[in-house]
Amino acid sequence: MSAQGFFDTGILRVLLPVPLGRPLSYAAPGSGPGFGEMPQPGSLVRVSLSGRELVGVVWDGEAETLPPDKKLKQVAEVYRTPPLSAPLRRLVDWVAAYTLNTPGMVLRMCLPMPEALTQPPPSRQVLHIAQPQPDLRPNAQRSRVLAIAAERPGLSQSELAEAAGVGAAVVRRLVELGALRALSVSADSRRSEPDGDAAGPHLSEDQQAAAQTLCAAVAARQFSVALLQGVTGSGKTEVYFEAVAEALRMGRQCLVLLPEIALTQAWLDRFERRFGGQAWAWHSELSPGRRAETLRAITSGRARVVVGARSALFLPFADLGMIVVDEEHDASYKQEEGAIYNARDMAVVRAKLESVPIVLASATPSLESLYNARRGRYAHLLLPQRHGTAEMPKVFAIDMRKHPPASQHFISAPLRVAIEKTLAEGEQAMLFLNRRGYAPLTLCGACGHRLECPNCSAWLVEHKARGRLLCHHCGFQARLPDACPACGETHRFKPCGPGVERLAEEAAALFPEARLALMTSDTMTSPQQITETLRRVEDRAVDILVGTQIVAKGHHFPMLTLVGVIDADLGLAGGDPRAAERTWQLLTQVAGRAGRAERPGSVLLQSYEPTHPVIAALARHDTEGFLLAELAERERGGMPPFGRLAALIISGTDAAQVGQAGRLLAQAAPMAHGLRVLGPAPAPLSFLRGKHRERLLLKATRDIDTAKCIAEWLGRVKLPSGVRLAVDIDPYSFL
Ligand code: ADP
Ligand code: ZN
Repeated sequence: MSAQGFFDTGILRVLLPVPLGRPLSYAAPGSGPGFGEMPQPGSLVRVSLSGRELVGVVWDGEAETLPPDKKLKQVAEVYRTPPLSAPLRRLVDWVAAYTLNTPGMVLRMCLPMPEALTQPPPSRQVLHIAQPQPDLRPNAQRSRVLAIAAERPGLSQSELAEAAGVGAAVVRRLVELGALRALSVSADSRRSEPDGDAAGPHLSEDQQAAAQTLCAAVAARQFSVALLQGVTGSGKTEVYFEAVAEALRMGRQCLVLLPEIALTQAWLDRFERRFGGQAWAWHSELSPGRRAETLRAITSGRARVVVGARSALFLPFADLGMIVVDEEHDASYKQEEGAIYNARDMAVVRAKLESVPIVLASATPSLESLYNARRGRYAHLLLPQRHGTAEMPKVFAIDMRKHPPASQHFISAPLRVAIEKTLAEGEQAMLFLNRRGYAPLTLCGACGHRLECPNCSAWLVEHKARGRLLCHHCGFQARLPDACPACGETHRFKPCGPGVERLAEEAAALFPEARLALMTSDTMTSPQQITETLRRVEDRAVDILVGTQIVAKGHHFPMLTLVGVIDADLGLAGGDPRAAERTWQLLTQVAGRAGRAERPGSVLLQSYEPTHPVIAALARHDTEGFLLAELAERERGGMPPFGRLAALIISGTDAAQVGQAGRLLAQAAPMAHGLRVLGPAPAPLSFLRGKHRERLLLKATRDIDTAKCIAEWLGRVKLPSGVRLAVDIDPYSFL
């Protein structure tokens, strides 16, 4: 509908950032002089809803015609900010339909802070030199102030006073006398612009070929997808930086998604070294002021390159020119709370709607992307070698059945010897265990009672560093009790199995001379702390780094030559259809930390099942073989990417109601060729945050529109009121 059309009916459809199924109708504001801006699709407007003032967006499509007696509320204000673009509005509708969320909840992700756009930006007073004042009596202080103001215009009163070493009163007086002029300017920080013409490194032949393809894609201003697959350290970042440079030269914006906030700072530093200007970060840790400023910079186009976590995907760019999803296989791209969506998949959708290219980069691509590359839907760019002289590390499996450590110890003799040798050479070692806390299970030595979370069907995990027992699912905390709640015996609790804290303790006992650092999401609570620890490792102030998956990704430690994986089998068990893929990805990433510079690296995988296809493939460096076997396996089972999955998760405080809801859903389940509904069955986490949980799984062939199917299905069922239903399209978590 054209902007003109709105005034035919005088009714606007306004989408509000609230969980409503559709836009609401409002009367257009009066037109003519004094009535301000004309609303158009995408315009931000202020309206009231049940007595609340909200900022919404004028949506496309015909407003319903209302009976003449029905009086609509009028739009209260139309903001002058740039409208939400048509591609972004399409994205909201698309994501809402695909993930079965309300469009309003998706809109909320596009406008995370509407006031940043609707309210005037904060300003500050700065001082400039004015016309010389003939009757100004000069003195030493005044002359100093005026000299500095002439040299550095745009300082605030206090900055100028400080620079001149005088009191604020001296400067104030000069303003009163008219020698200095005060101007109000935006308080947003000034940043140096990245330079698309800045010279990058000299690229290898493979890198050059990949970079050329990507640059051509950016220049084409069309939708395309490229899977950039290269071993860790092969220069994927350098290659996509070339495409970023192309977008910068074209004056367009780039969005780069990273899976973890922890990686952002290193990325920003590297970007600045490469482009001589700054990129903008977007993630949940930004202060409100910085968030607002960043949003303004993105909407105005001042932010040329934005790097962020998955939530950055929905931001209202002024002129998006390309998208990069780094570590595209990473499960952190799946948002599991609130609106459940996969940012990598939705990024491809956004690229399509915006008609821009997208690059998916990874050393260990997801089977989904790999399958698309093999079918020719994505360009497949390969970087088979590490940059420079760095070789891929040698990978060995340690058969733990042959080399069992002592009871309640976790470092085998071969691994211990390898660490000794590494330290003797003055190199660094990393020990990896993807288990937070001290021990995964704490039990009473007298009666065998296990300490469980009161809100979840999960064990409590001891965290010695915090002196607490923690539930990793709901965050419940407790002190370790003196007496066993079951038998009353005191001081008999025993830790069972390894957590990363316990591993660090064992390593410290084995290598008392070594300087040890522990890195987990529990010990690293701020991005600064992470950056600081990473820097200490880089500066070789750390000999042994012990960590969970937080150490697996992206970091570059030249002197790290040994990686020991304490439990390579962890993650292979359980009912997750992606278990093998995920373990392979994680272990490849961890292994990729070893030997990234001149010194060759080795990786030792402790395993009780060294012949398992995943462990065997890692030891042989057989990426291709593993992926082909895994693809064949998925095809046989009709699993993604060959088939579609969707999960329905029912939860509630009343177990009987949850059970009833499950049965109702099963009875109304869709029936069609190529489609099966499994369940309901109690979820593996059958009790979570005080709620009982059941799951249903819909399995369908690729030609079936699962979202539509589920929408119709849910329309047939009236669930008990105390029960909540979450729909997870393309589930990654099966807990
Ligand atoms: P990846 O993203 O594939 O892990 P990076 O882009 O981080 O690889 O490259 C690994 C290291 O090699 C980085 O320090 C990077 O600067 C360096 N590097 C990669 N390619 C080149 C090149 N052509 N010239 C100089 N240094 C390079
Ligand atoms: Zn819990």
